[in-house]
Amino acid sequence: MRISEQKVVTMNYEVADDQGQLIDRSEEGGPLAYIHGNDQLIPGLETALEGRGKGDKIAVDIPPEQGYGERDEEGVQIVARNQFDDSVEIEVGMQFEAQDDDEGHQIVTVAAVDGENITLDTNHPLAGKNLRFKVEILDVRDASTEELSHGHVHGPGGHDH
Ligand code: ZN
Repeated sequence: MRISEQKVVTMNYEVADDQGQLIDRSEEGGPLAYIHGNDQLIPGLETALEGRGKGDKIAVDIPPEQGYGERDEEGVQIVARNQFDDSVEIEVGMQFEAQDDDEGHQIVTVAAVDGENITLDTNHPLAGKNLRFKVEILDVRDASTEELSHGHVHGPGGHDH
């Protein structure tokens, strides 16, 4: 069976940046399962997996426009330390959800702490990066009606309910 829309794909993956630095891998959390064609993966990875089958191993380099997008420097803001609750220790790399004008909420990352100035970044941490994926396809099957109505995979690598 080949990967196409509404197939459940189970895979192991690892992703590194341009310098070959490992960013993430599926090993620890177990294989990832997703429904193909549901925008659950970045576009470049879905395109690379299309038409592949169980047992295939692929390596693909994905540019930002097919990944998490280009960085938007308007997403970087400096705010005063006193904008935060005193009880919160602000550290570089911290992430939290902030209210957004239109979309409800977004993830904000603390990019720098300089005395009273805190630099916040609303860009996805992987925005602007070339991503080198290595994927091993472990299984390809049809999604069940229930999985399609929920929009996610049930069982190993997916939701357990
Ligand atoms: Zn479900």
